[in-house]
Amino acid sequence: MEHKGRIIKGIAGFYYVKADNVVFECKARGIFKKDKIIPLVGDNVIISINSLEEKTAIIEKIMPRNVEMIRPRVANVDQAVVVIALKNPEPHKIMIDKLTVLIEKSGLDLVICFNKCDLDSEGIYKEFYDIYKSTGYRIISTSAYDNSGLDELKEVLDNKVSVLAGPSGVGKSSILNVIQRDLHLKTGLVSKKIKRGKHTTRHSELIELDFGGFVVDTPGFTSLDITSIEMSELKEFFPEFKNDKIQCKFSDCYHEKEPKCGVKLGVENGLISKSRYESYLYLLNEIKENRRHK
Ligand code: GDP
Ligand code: ZN
Repeated sequence: MEHKGRIIKGIAGFYYVKADNVVFECKARGIFKKDKIIPLVGDNVIISINSLEEKTAIIEKIMPRNVEMIRPRVANVDQAVVVIALKNPEPHKIMIDKLTVLIEKSGLDLVICFNKCDLDSEGIYKEFYDIYKSTGYRIISTSAYDNSGLDELKEVLDNKVSVLAGPSGVGKSSILNVIQRDLHLKTGLVSKKIKRGKHTTRHSELIELDFGGFVVDTPGFTSLDITSIEMSELKEFFPEFKNDKIQCKFSDCYHEKEPKCGVKLGVENGLISKSRYESYLYLLNEIKENRRHK
């Protein structure tokens, strides 16, 4: 009998496939090796069950992938949730915009989650909300301490495969620990460093959420290296530049020093936030400098 499932974990040549609410330990058919196809965590697969009792099966077929993330190596991720702390650590605008650019390039949907809202007594959330509202990204604010916003986060994660992104210390593990019972991810910098020191080769897994959906158990987009992006391509990754109301007539415009540029006009009119535009110029320059030094 053939069943549809999803690979949630891979260890030493074994794949763990969740199918019909059972996790089967699977081997992949030899044919994949011959065709140089390596099953990935996140793959949608067809399995044939060897033994229901022992929960063993064979992966017969891998369905085509929508997207394939490189680090961590996971297939069919739907969205990235950028987690940023409103305080401790201080939010850093250029860093956030590097992340959004890299996620845009990867083709994933994007949601921004401002965490630690319990620490926000100075209206930092409002400031950041105003900067990011014209991007069109869904923006939520949460606290892993007083649980505010977590229902909305669950709604965001429901029925999707998500990867969390964002600097360390913002609360990614803490959030997952509170929304998913029986999950005990390490939190706080110290304990994580100790764990990393052990050099255990471990692949990423999908954490299944009992309200529906999966989250990759390790953060994505950790490198923040934007130098593989072309100067001419960067503007594509700022969705607000492509808004209907923003009409830059010049398709080859860098929106930089060109006169009569629609994007610059949009910044003047307040349709594009100044901070985002400044990040754009900063990143454009970073790419330019990198090309020059090559
Ligand atoms: P990660 O590196 O992004 O996974 O962050 P952690 O989950 O390890 O959290 C880093 C630190 O921030 C820990 O000491 C947490 O207890 C704390 N923390 C996480 N979420 C919140 C929050 O919503 N509010 C406050 N005040 N602290 C938080
Ligand atoms: Zn322009």
